[in-house]
Amino acid sequence: MAKISYVDGLYLHYKDSKIHIEDRGYHFGDAVYEVVMFNEGIFFDYNEHIKRLLRSLKSLNITLPISCKSLKIIIKNVIKKNKVVFGSVYIQVSRGVAQRNHSYKNLTLKPIIIISVTEKNNNYLNNFIGVSAITLNDNRWARPDIKTTQLLPNILAKTIADEKGAYEAIFIDQYDYITEGSSSNIWIVNYDNELITRNLDGQILSGITRNAVKNCAVQNNIKLLERKFSKDELLTAKEVFLTSATSFVTPIVKIDNSSINNGLIGELSCSLRELYLKAMKTSN
Ligand code: PMP
Repeated sequence: MAKISYVDGLYLHYKDSKIHIEDRGYHFGDAVYEVVMFNEGIFFDYNEHIKRLLRSLKSLNITLPISCKSLKIIIKNVIKKNKVVFGSVYIQVSRGVAQRNHSYKNLTLKPIIIISVTEKNNNYLNNFIGVSAITLNDNRWARPDIKTTQLLPNILAKTIADEKGAYEAIFIDQYDYITEGSSSNIWIVNYDNELITRNLDGQILSGITRNAVKNCAVQNNIKLLERKFSKDELLTAKEVFLTSATSFVTPIVKIDNSSINNGLIGELSCSLRELYLKAMKTSN
């Protein structure tokens, strides 16, 4: 079936879905985005994703050109037009189209919204495997807390991981602490059964899945610490997993040349994945 997207006010077939060559998202990565999963009409943490979209827009002085109510109607329309039951919706808002100029002062711009839908195989709701990861120096800009489309360091890192047969690249800051994955937040469980993930210190994205998993941990009396942890703690952890909207909770069983938990999926990773997916069944 032909795919339909939404581009700046119009529902279009993919082949006709085009943006202007002077869109600032295209020129400069002057755009923000969100990815929201959905299953049988239920969105996974929709409101939290939209709140973060608004925060990202605000950080870059971009105003959403339509109401949140209209945005939701459009998103539902795109899903319906594509007849997708289980998948992800991609929302991107760029600052708009203007003659190429670094500064946007004095430019009259209309932000451009694009929305597309990707169908996913829902096998992976139940069937999941432990994945491997590599570590790399974090060479991103100083505002990784804003979800911009300017993702060069992330895509280069993910490609290096891919070339090495790994699923994710984990960024390490200049002090040897883990920041996050190229497209995920990273968690460890230590031998005191403490669940640890980096605190929101501006050096990581405030993952929506991270927050939902945090809530699952708190509700189930799992000891949670939000603090920096070192590469050494990562490599010697009892369990390691990553979280993201599209990967949910995914166990990491090998990092660089070190096996984690003898290459087996850890117990806590497994239960948090279950708790997370259960919470998402009714989230919206
Ligand atoms: N960090 C980065 C750099 C990401 O790209 C993502 C995925 N968008 C995440 C963390 C996880 O965020 P979320 O749980 O909201 O998908």
